[in-house]
Amino acid sequence: MESIHRFSHRILPLTFSEKCFKNSKTNRFLRNPVLGIHENREQTFKSRVSELKPAFNGNFITRKSYTSSSRARAGWLLGLGDKKPILPEIVKAGDPVLHEPARDVSIDEIGSEKIEKIIDDMIKVMRNAPGVGLAAPQIGIPLKIIVLEDTKEYIGYALKEETKAQDRRPFDLLVILNPKLKKKNNKTAFFFEGCLSVGGFRAVVERYLEVEVTGLGRDGRPIKVDASGWQARILQHECDHLDGTIYVDKMVPRTFRIVENLDLPLPTGCPKIGVH
Ligand SMILES: [Zn+2]
Repeated sequence: MESIHRFSHRILPLTFSEKCFKNSKTNRFLRNPVLGIHENREQTFKSRVSELKPAFNGNFITRKSYTSSSRARAGWLLGLGDKKPILPEIVKAGDPVLHEPARDVSIDEIGSEKIEKIIDDMIKVMRNAPGVGLAAPQIGIPLKIIVLEDTKEYIGYALKEETKAQDRRPFDLLVILNPKLKKKNNKTAFFFEGCLSVGGFRAVVERYLEVEVTGLGRDGRPIKVDASGWQARILQHECDHLDGTIYVDKMVPRTFRIVENLDLPLPTGCPKIGVH
């Protein structure tokens, strides 16, 4: 069991605490990423954004107004006085936009200033978080757009045995509009994952090991991605967002925990972590 718990993993936030403790791979903070630092930082950021009270004037009104407290949609790179861009805030679980299906980006919209800006913002928000994937609903935009990337640097912060078990390898930035995901076979793996919209928690989720995703690039050209391992997991996680599904809808419920408890034993009866 011990070795299994050492393979407890995260899909998303590579926290600042992890960066801080990069040189100490046995450090508990590295292995059990604490989002505290990240979240404090986020809060500081929020208050800065709300001070400016910017308004989103896009066409993406769902049930929730995008102009009231929805700081997430606000301030698309409005200046922060000293030229620092303001990024949309990450929408948190409970917001209807995360629980409803997103709509396709129409052919006419591809390449438009509006869509280009959304994509640029998504990339910035993902990198700023930092995370390895983001779906448009996570910045309050109910459109089928996902971005993902994983880097040598990010992977370097995790334990080698961890990334090996996850089959986690770096890949370049991918922007996919209207993605359609298909499993390539029935092989699955159970690993912990988290979500920028559900900060501070992790749970084990069963995911397919190999998937194929087709869709359009930001230039409108068809793309096809054959993914396996961790990249396949990220793709499934992000495509789920476009269906209004977050990982807690699919998790093994009894494995749900705060990140600080990531390495604690799984309750009896839970599937073993790893490839099945
Ligand atoms: Zn997510």
